[in-house]
Amino acid sequence: MPRPITATLHLAAFDNNLQVIRRHAPGAKVWSVVKANAYGHGIKHVWRSLANTDGFALLDLAEAVLLRESGWQGPILLLEGFFQPADLALIDRYQLTTAVHCDWQLAAIADARLTAPLNIYLKLNSGMNRLGFAPDRIRSVWQRAQGIANIGAMTLMSHFATADEPRGVVQQMATIDRAVADLPLPRCLANSAATLWHPDTHGSWVRPGIILYGASPSGNSADIAATGLQATMSLRSEIIAVQTLKSGDSVGYGWRYTASAVQRIGIVACGYADGYPRHAQSGTPIWVDGVLTRTVGTVSMDMLAVDLTPCPQAAIGAEVELWGRHLPVDDVAAAAGTLGYELLTALTPRVPVETG
Ligand code: PLP
Repeated sequence: MPRPITATLHLAAFDNNLQVIRRHAPGAKVWSVVKANAYGHGIKHVWRSLANTDGFALLDLAEAVLLRESGWQGPILLLEGFFQPADLALIDRYQLTTAVHCDWQLAAIADARLTAPLNIYLKLNSGMNRLGFAPDRIRSVWQRAQGIANIGAMTLMSHFATADEPRGVVQQMATIDRAVADLPLPRCLANSAATLWHPDTHGSWVRPGIILYGASPSGNSADIAATGLQATMSLRSEIIAVQTLKSGDSVGYGWRYTASAVQRIGIVACGYADGYPRHAQSGTPIWVDGVLTRTVGTVSMDMLAVDLTPCPQAAIGAEVELWGRHLPVDDVAAAAGTLGYELLTALTPRVPVETG
């Protein structure tokens, strides 16, 4: 018998989530963001379920090549561009669109031997201060790019730092408008939060990631509860042992949870080596045998403990959902002081993936 842990991918949820996105941004094309191996789901498992997208955006050249070789013939955008001039050979061969965020990348494109002009996303640093040309330089960079024969279509790209807040794009939108309002450039600005909550940012293309996977960009599951987004992954396991603690007995490393009365505890085959957050506190929600209960004590490498009080019938073999259809990943992440993004992308290769 294999260890009873599985990540089940709900493939139909991807198309549903894409439709939700299109309803929010009806005038824009959609780059489905599948970086970090489709937010931990596996590009090879999911891309066909997103085949109604207008394009895929990702980070790694290797992931772009995998997507192309798997059969996707539409647009692919490299969100951070390329990391060395030699990458341009693959970008040209696999007809990728690339972000350009600094001068050496433009120079490398100008010098490259390409078989066809390259479509680029000129990245403006509107306040995130990670990547991109400064607002007072973007105009001259655009002019320079126009003179480069190797460059085809250009789009303006920028990234928001606080789009999950009610007024979170105002300052960056003002910077963008001041910098490029009169330039004839299509815009691609919106991540998930801006796609859902800031229609003024939508432009020609939106770039949602986390909402494709049914999780919340704010980290609060209530913020997306009414959108119709569906979870795309359920991490499932089973109870593999049951302990009955007496009052004063403790459980797990550090004895960080102590029973104050007789209490049934279930041991679940899932730990931090599977990607479950070790920082999840006692009290993190978990679904066992049809009811929501809570974890108790420290998460171990391969196991964690749960309170079986709300589910007295639960025995060895009882079904457990760590997150998924019955329990938003955001709620588990919140109890560990992080976001659904981190939990989904932290799933480790030892967890078998099945589609369903
Ligand atoms: N665009 C860029 C440049 C990104 O780095 C990311 C992810 O961090 C996204 C879009 C998608 O963001 P989200 O998953 O919040 O929609």
